[in-house]
Amino acid sequence: MADYDVIVVGGGGAGMAAAIEAADAHATVALIEADEKLGGSTALSGGVYYAAGTSVQEARGITDSVDAMFEYYMTLNQYRVDASLARTLCENAAKDLEWLIELGANFPPSELYSSGVESVPRGHPAAGRGAEIAEVLDRTVSKRNVDVVLNSRLTDLVVDTAGAVRGIKTGDAVITANAVVLATGGFGANPYFLNKYYPDAASQAEKVWYIGNEHCLGDGLVLGEQAGADIVGFNRGLLLTTPNFKKELEVFVPGWLVYINREGRRFVNEMAEYAVMSGVIAAQTGGSCFAVFDDEARKTAKPNKQYEDAFAAGIISLNWVTDEIDSQLKTGKVLQADSFAELEEKCGIRPGSLNATLTRYNADIEEGGDSMFFKSHEEMKPVSTPPYYAVEIFPAIVCLTSTGLRINKRTQVLDTRGQVIEGLYAAGETTGDVLGERYIGGGNSIANAIVFGRIAGQQAALQAGRNE
Ligand SMILES: Cc1cc2nc3c(=O)[nH]c(=O)nc-3n(C[C@H](O)[C@H](O)[C@H](O)COP(=O)(O)OP(=O)(O)OC[C@H]3O[C@@H](n4cnc5c(N)ncnc54)[C@H](O)[C@@H]3O)c2cc1C
Repeated sequence: MADYDVIVVGGGGAGMAAAIEAADAHATVALIEADEKLGGSTALSGGVYYAAGTSVQEARGITDSVDAMFEYYMTLNQYRVDASLARTLCENAAKDLEWLIELGANFPPSELYSSGVESVPRGHPAAGRGAEIAEVLDRTVSKRNVDVVLNSRLTDLVVDTAGAVRGIKTGDAVITANAVVLATGGFGANPYFLNKYYPDAASQAEKVWYIGNEHCLGDGLVLGEQAGADIVGFNRGLLLTTPNFKKELEVFVPGWLVYINREGRRFVNEMAEYAVMSGVIAAQTGGSCFAVFDDEARKTAKPNKQYEDAFAAGIISLNWVTDEIDSQLKTGKVLQADSFAELEEKCGIRPGSLNATLTRYNADIEEGGDSMFFKSHEEMKPVSTPPYYAVEIFPAIVCLTSTGLRINKRTQVLDTRGQVIEGLYAAGETTGDVLGERYIGGGNSIANAIVFGRIAGQQAALQAGRNE
């Protein structure tokens, strides 16, 4: 007889959901966590959960459906994700949001918003952000029959000669289990894996930094490979843009910034969703761009209005305010020039191009609209009062990674021939091909963690011969 029915490795959103489900199916469960507390990156997150057809949407009078979410998901990802996993996510996301609500999480209808480019709002922020989701799950774990082991970084699986996973090894000790669930999160904190699996991030060299939990080192990939797991979803994740002022989260820029590439052209609505912005900037020559503004804008600088609450709560740092801009002038991250020609020279922008671009931009403001990218007119400010300023913007903050273990819709880990590895399950950021090249919107990853975490717990308990 095994020591445990189910061992869950990693106690973030996916791992805690898995442990709760396995315990609810009467399995004996151990939850192994590298950190000194449960929560992982889930606890650090904005706590936005993406779902369609929820009671929260209904409370706002919004009609939505699984089919609409699935179509949106697949279209945005150009069908380059595993459709059965995407469908499973879409089908379970609403039900599992209700599960979190039943456990005590609060998703106020008033905060529901379009967190991607969907036409009906599907981004459900938890009132207390990711910390609330993690706390609710942690509290539930503590009420279940789960042995929680903190400060324990797992490095080895026990794999038998037939290739089935039979437990874990810590030091010399072997702890046997009928099923092991890998839920160790992503690999954002591991430069080696960023180089290997996420070259778009690694190419930002010393500017790249990770905002998640420091223990997210990609151990799930290493553990999975010990059992022959396939790794899928090369070069996928979510990069956020940054002026690199300081190592703090900053995503939502104000509309008075004008993004200019090295050809001296605008190329995007500067207020486009963060889900797409990094990719658009990365595609420009040099993989970055410049945020340009004038002295009038500097003196009256205010952050993006839409996210005032997040700024006030300290979730997003205040980069685009006068004091910060002035202090970054001294560091050289804000460049100053008395003419467009001088600014072009300082930035390496094609000589003679800024005048045409900004003359058109200023004329658009006069005429009442952005004729190129249709940015909200009320957010625009002319660039006409010298001195002029430019700040280089990089897609360099790693929010999450989505290269990971190949799973099927039951969360069983598959080997390179597509065969199930007996006894091994995985969920959340440690898996690949659920999240695609395009982040569909805020909440994609937490929904992934909760939906597949729950399935993993249920399936692992079944493997152990347990069910309700
Ligand atoms: C600042 C920030 C904001 C975000 N906002 C959102 C948002 O609003 N909505 C959204 O959908 N996504 C968001 N994300 C992404 C999202 O939070 C994560 O992708 C998701 O929570 C991952 O859940 P997980 O359970 O897979 O991993 P995690 O929550 O990271 O949990 C993994 C756990 O495994 C542990 N672990 C790692 N290796 C080992 C090991 N070898 N042995 C034992 N334990 C190990 C870690 O310590 C960690 O506790 C955000 C991320 C960040 C960093």
